[in-house]
Order: sequence, then structure tokens, then C-alpha cells
Amino acid sequence: MNIVVLVKQVPDSSAERSLRSDDNTVDRGSVSSVINEMDEYAIEEALRVQQAHGGEVTILTMGPVGASESIRKALSMGPDRAVHVLDDGLHGSCALATSRVLAAVLGRLGPDLVLCGAESTDGRVQVMAHMLAERLGVAALTGARKLTVEGGLLTIERQTEEGVEVVAAQAPAVVSVWDTINEPRYPSFKGIMAAKKKPVQTLSLADLGVAAGEVGAAGASSAVVGQSRRPPRSGGVKITDEGAGGVRLVEFLASERASDL
Ligand SMILES: Cc1cc2nc3c(=O)[nH]c(=O)nc-3n(C[C@H](O)[C@H](O)[C@H](O)COP(=O)(O)OP(=O)(O)OC[C@H]3O[C@@H](n4cnc5c(N)ncnc54)[C@H](O)[C@@H]3O)c2cc1C
Repeated sequence: MNIVVLVKQVPDSSAERSLRSDDNTVDRGSVSSVINEMDEYAIEEALRVQQAHGGEVTILTMGPVGASESIRKALSMGPDRAVHVLDDGLHGSCALATSRVLAAVLGRLGPDLVLCGAESTDGRVQVMAHMLAERLGVAALTGARKLTVEGGLLTIERQTEEGVEVVAAQAPAVVSVWDTINEPRYPSFKGIMAAKKKPVQTLSLADLGVAAGEVGAAGASSAVVGQSRRPPRSGGVKITDEGAGGVRLVEFLASERASDL
């Protein structure tokens, strides 16, 4: 079973992140970048399916030059090869444009299974699996906490507030995963060394036959038009109990509630 795992490089969410002041896009230079956490679970799941059913695992990333670092890290976990879509024209792309580009690569690779994270920690739009399935004309099995592969049948379990849904589809399909699906492995020293020699194919928009006007800021269906920082927390109100502390506390809470209405 040939599998493609979508891996996005994102700003480290444990650091202070910001948007650029000139075009409101993510400021990738001001903070270190990492593999989107959920994508590590997708990689782990791909490796488990490969172990059970054979085939190749390919990492697919659309991102700037620095994303190659995350691609090597992904490869050090065990996948066989990677494709990096790298083009200055991608800057400012919206989710629709991102799906246009990723679908163009997937159309060429023709995988049996596409695995991705359920959401990224920067964009957080949770739409990529659906958009790609629509563009490719295949099923979307989204939000998986468990994946079972039997022949060409893919079955997932999805946790909802009411219970667990079991959804199945024939391959090829797109499956997005949450962090409840497995425990990603740490790259071994051998894996890190092996990753240095694994093939990484770089593709431009022209290679993919995607016109510049379909992507980037010019082709974006949505754009961030403004930004402002959350105001710093104020010092708060300190109530010292000198006998009527309880009453003052209730009065304070009531006044806060009133100001919310
Ligand atoms: C250089 C560059 C500049 C961009 N500029 C903007 C911008 O200015 N405004 C804007 O709205 N968007 C921009 N994008 C696109 C944006 O970063 C997201 O990729 C896109 O909007 C999807 O949103 P999401 O990550 O929240 O998707 P989600 O649906 O939350 O992501 C789900 C999963 O999809 C996969 N995925 C998502 N994006 C990628 C990717 N690029 N490569 C591989 N897998 C991926 C991952 O597996 C992820 O876990 C830019 C992208 C690039 C590469």
C-alpha cells in the first residue's frame, strides 16, 4: 500500500508567535519551526500500516526553503522519500490554494492512502483532508483515533461528544488523524543518519502545471486584513477578608457578570 503523509512545518507553538506587519502572513523568521505536532502521528500511523501491508511511505510538504529541516526530521522517523513543493509564488496562499497544490502532487503520485493531521497548530482550519478528498474525487475519513486496513478497505474510529463513529471507505482515501491514534516514535541515530541519504524531490509550481495566479496572495480566496495583540492582563482586584469578604466577592462577581451582558 503506497502512502503519502502530509507534513507541514509550523512555528513552534511553545514560543511567542507573530504575524508580519507588511502582509499579515506568519512571521516564519522570528521563531523556530517544527513539524506540525499532529503530522508526527500521521507519520507514525503510515509506518505502522507499511509494516503490516508493505509499500512505500512518501512525505509531502509545501513550504519555504527552511521546511527542508522538517522534511529530514520526518524522514528520520522511517519514511522512504519526500516531495517538497518550493516556490516563491506560494507566499500568501490560502487553504484552497494549498489544497490545489497538494492535490496536484497527489494526482501524480497516485497513492492508495493519504494521511495527514486533523489540524495544524498555526492555521488550524481543519479543512485540508476534506478539500483534498474533494479535489481527488476520493473519500475523506477524518478525525481518526484508530485506523484499520483490511485489503483495500480503510476503517476509522472517530470520537465525538456523543460516542464513537465507525466510518469505512475503499482506498484510495484521505485519512486525517488526532493525537489519540498512537504514540509517535523518536528518530533513532540510525534513522537520522539514513535520512540524510533519502531522496527529496523538489517541485515548483511550473513543474506541477499550477498557474501563478491560482496561488499566493494574488490568487487567495481569503486573506488576513488586520491584526492586533491581545491587551496585557490587568492587575485584577484583590479582596482582603475583614469580615465581609464573602459579600464583597459576590458583589464583584455580580458586577462582572452585569458588565458581560
Ligand atoms: C510559504 C507559504 C505561505 C503561506 N501564506 C499563507 C497566508 O498568507 N495566508 C494563509 O491563509 N495561508 C497561507 N499559507 C497556507 C497555510 O499555511 C496552510 O497551509 C493552509 O491554509 C492550510 O491551513 P491549515 O494548515 O490550517 O490546514 P489544516 O486543515 O488545519 O491542516 C491539516 C493538515 O493538512 C496538512 N497540511 C496543511 N498545510 C500543509 C502544507 N503546506 N504542506 C503539507 N501539508 C499540509 C497537514 O498534515 C496538517 O496537519 C501559506 C503556506 C505557505 C507554504
